[in-house]
Amino acid sequence: MTEKRVYIETMGCQMNVLDSGLVLGQLCALGYRPTDDYRTADLVVLNTCSVRQHAEDKVYSRLGELGQVKRQRPSMILGVIGCMAERDHAGIRERARHVDFLCGPGSLNEVPELLEEVVEARDQGRREVIVALEHDHSRRLPAGRRTLAHDSIEELDLSRFPPDGGSALQSYLRVQRGCDKFCSFCVVPFTRGPERSRPPGHIVEEARRLVGMGAKEITLLGQTVNSYSYEEHGRQVAFAELLQRVHEVPGIERLRFVTSYPGDFTDDILYAMRDLPRVCEYLHLPAQSGSNGVLQRMKRQYTAEGYVELIERARSIVPRLALAGDFIVGFSGETDEEHAETLALIEKIRYKGLFIFKYSERPGTVAERRLPDNVPEEVKQRRHGDVTRLQHAISLAHHRAMIGGEVEVLVEGYSKAAIKAQQAEQCRGEEVSWRRSDQLVGRTRGDDIVVFAGDASLIGGLTTVRITAATALTLHGEAVVPIVPQS
Ligand code: SF4
Repeated sequence: MTEKRVYIETMGCQMNVLDSGLVLGQLCALGYRPTDDYRTADLVVLNTCSVRQHAEDKVYSRLGELGQVKRQRPSMILGVIGCMAERDHAGIRERARHVDFLCGPGSLNEVPELLEEVVEARDQGRREVIVALEHDHSRRLPAGRRTLAHDSIEELDLSRFPPDGGSALQSYLRVQRGCDKFCSFCVVPFTRGPERSRPPGHIVEEARRLVGMGAKEITLLGQTVNSYSYEEHGRQVAFAELLQRVHEVPGIERLRFVTSYPGDFTDDILYAMRDLPRVCEYLHLPAQSGSNGVLQRMKRQYTAEGYVELIERARSIVPRLALAGDFIVGFSGETDEEHAETLALIEKIRYKGLFIFKYSERPGTVAERRLPDNVPEEVKQRRHGDVTRLQHAISLAHHRAMIGGEVEVLVEGYSKAAIKAQQAEQCRGEEVSWRRSDQLVGRTRGDDIVVFAGDASLIGGLTTVRITAATALTLHGEAVVPIVPQS
């Protein structure tokens, strides 16, 4: 029997990266093998994002390209999974009739059955889209199946295994699903459902398995990870306790968590970060705006002053804390003054890095129903530029201050430049040999990218790098450990 090939394309956040890995694991268990070539794949899966209109437009354009491939190879199965499948299933059915199945993020455990149903329908000459959504009951399932969805989706995380026996040096581990915050601009509560924390025992068990598969760094994932709370034997396990339990898993060398919600952030988490040596001094804490007026319209449950106080407390408790954040520019009604307050906040906090977005109105959100998207595109563009330039200068200053110092780096592999050089050598038909001067890449505990000269034997481990140069995005340096001479 010929081996079936699956191609998965992932858009959006870390949650989607994790989901794609889990779906791939399921498919590998069915006998599929991953491929990088969608043109020859038997099964193509797009894992989609709905956070911005641009992300959804990209999916439709990709579906158009895949439609052409499918016309030439009608046997190919095409699935759309993730947030857009949940939010815009009617639109996809209408505009991309060549899609075979749709599956929302809360139903991904059902992908093998969906595939089975696609094949069954084809065998019977029926042309229909098979659908599994948390908020859609049009697909008839055996009695009781739908009510078990949340238990079965838990099984999806627990059943993970590395496809092709590979290992994942840096792995994501989900600790909660969904979100209850309903920020007025955000579609996540509608696509990923209400907040549900996973049992701590399951999370610890999964961490052990990840270490067994080669993980050295684990990132705990949640939409508002710090609001994790699980009732166990009549008492609540909060996020600080969960961090401690995962930290005890032997073999973990680094532990991180994203994304935190400023409104729920308690000091016990800061003390855990200070006292647990393998928890990295890194916080991703989206402010979204520096203006209280905008925060109120966004329905964020904190003020700019409260946010600054939290950061000051965090910096006083956790030495060398690296801070990252998210900002949305051009939200409904944002004035020049409110934009200036955002710039002032960024200047005050001095993040190590930022994710900056232009506001994009999303169907079904509170903002779409009640607040006009009335900041002109060119103003959004200009404000995006303002924030980007300011942050660029701050990131550069942070990185320049690190020149001459030493940092701990988890070595991920060869740098992009080294890989390109190797590919060029291969194209020229030359024998490829990694020289000791080849550049490696890794990350610091504060999530800075470091490109450095080092021996290939360092890949997959922690090493010390002396920083010799810096740009706003990257640190450059050399491994402090001696380089093993090549024979
Ligand atoms: S906290 Fe707000 S922005 Fe974050 S996922 Fe929840 S609703 Fe969306």
